Amino acid sequence: MYEGPIQDLIDELGRLPGIGPRSAQRIAFYILSADAEDVSRLSETLARVKRMARFCEVCFNVSAEERCRICADPRRDRTAICVVEESKDVGAVERTREFRGLYHVLGGAISPIDGIGPGDLRIRELCLRLADGTVSEVIIATDPNLEGEATATYLSRLLLDLGVQVSRLASGLPVGGDLEYADEVTLGRAFEGRRTIQPNRPVAAAEDPVAQPAAATGEG
Ligand SMILES: [Zn+2]
Repeated sequence: MYEGPIQDLIDELGRLPGIGPRSAQRIAFYILSADAEDVSRLSETLARVKRMARFCEVCFNVSAEERCRICADPRRDRTAICVVEESKDVGAVERTREFRGLYHVLGGAISPIDGIGPGDLRIRELCLRLADGTVSEVIIATDPNLEGEATATYLSRLLLDLGVQVSRLASGLPVGGDLEYADEVTLGRAFEGRRTIQPNRPVAAAEDPVAQPAAATGEG
């Protein structure tokens, strides 16, 4: 629609998640009219994130160093690991202030439609972290959608076989959504009300549909 560089910029911006054609156009014209200094700072930041950001060698969260700030913090509880799909979910759980343990970022969720199986996720790395027996509880905090549930079911069976206590966030999170979009209070309650998964039992979101509504809301 436009010529040359401005159209190139609109096209590039339009490829970003959550940015439609109209937003891409608005951002492109904003950049065109912005101070040269602001624009070069933005472009340097973009280049730097690709050059310098890396993943923590322990938990695979995004990190500026070999180990992320959470793994490097001696005050964190090393007996509990919260398993999430993506780095952005670490931020969501941290904002609830309900969890003082460590994390493990899987790098996605099991999704046969997209050709993503357990081997494509950092599950082997998680099992290796459990090998020395320091960790006594693994909390599975995958997204409350189909892929997240499939991943949670797979993981809980695998981890129970390793003899570790496995828990799953309580219900109450908006189903079909993304963990990062849950508000802090809801996510915090889901965390507090997490339930331990018993060996040799299927993973059920609502184990007892008639009793204990207090347990479901994580009231306390
Ligand atoms: Zn880490």
